[in-house]
Amino acid sequence: MKSILITGASTGIGYATARHFDRLGWRVFAGVRKEGDAERLREGASARLMPLMLDVTNTEHIRTALAQVRDVVGERGLDALVNNAGIAVGGPLEFVPLERWRLQFEVNVLGVVAVTQAALPLLRQAQGRIINISSVSGLVAAPFFGPYAASKFALEALSDSLRLEVADQGIRVILVEPGAVDTPIWPKGKQEAESLRRHLPPEGMHLYGRLVQNIERWIAASERQAMPVEEVVRVIETAVATPRPKPRYVVARGAARFAPLLRCLPTTLRDAIFKRLAR
Ligand code: NDP
Repeated sequence: MKSILITGASTGIGYATARHFDRLGWRVFAGVRKEGDAERLREGASARLMPLMLDVTNTEHIRTALAQVRDVVGERGLDALVNNAGIAVGGPLEFVPLERWRLQFEVNVLGVVAVTQAALPLLRQAQGRIINISSVSGLVAAPFFGPYAASKFALEALSDSLRLEVADQGIRVILVEPGAVDTPIWPKGKQEAESLRRHLPPEGMHLYGRLVQNIERWIAASERQAMPVEEVVRVIETAVATPRPKPRYVVARGAARFAPLLRCLPTTLRDAIFKRLAR
């Protein structure tokens, strides 16, 4: 039986991926942070699906979770790791508190590194695959997306390095780069934006207020066009199971589909496009 470990499986892409691979007959290890989320994952799932307490910023959680995986899979090893857990911090660089910047990198970057380091011996045993859930924000950085985009750029870079480091060991590293997906990350992002706006000093409001408003309108439009989570799950399945996976998969609708192209444009032209979008 094939096995897969998915981080951040309480909601959104992680939850849907866990349930999907369970239906496909895989042994699913699903990382969550609350007992209630573990319960919800188990409801209607097979007895194979095993929720694990896994905060990716907690070294002890990672050690215990991987020991639990090892106990179950034994010599067969782990066939796939989906580094999905993520948060989105946004706002003008000048006024996003440093602790929010740190948390953004702790979860989206160092969390991925820590879980991957712990899982690599098991992945090596199975000649498994690492699927890193990046974003189109890992290809182009819009204004006020700085913390999130920087974390996804870092994820892209470490994935590119790792892919070459472990290729000879039979391990594949694949990036999935979604555009807007209909998940709870959006309401969470709006709450974050509201809290930031409340705490923005008058000077911050004066300097960035109008632009922030325009970007919020743009975000609301993206959210309205967000694709169903199943579209991303299908691509994750391809990345995990197809015999010859591509190193990266963009999954996006609308303008976000052009992110790889936008990335290749001269910077001044790309800036002009973003300025127009934010007007
Ligand atoms: P959700 O907010 O629904 O899911 C995020 C998941 O990450 C939750 O399970 C959450 O758990 C978990 N998580 C947050 N912090 C930690 C932590 N410290 N340790 C372990 N788990 C944690 O959002 P999505 O499903 O949309 O996001 C999944 C991934 O997809 C993210 O990496 C995101 O950047 C990426 N993505 C999403 C897009 C979108 O439009 N939705 C677009 C592009 C990429 P908890 O419930 O306990 O907080």
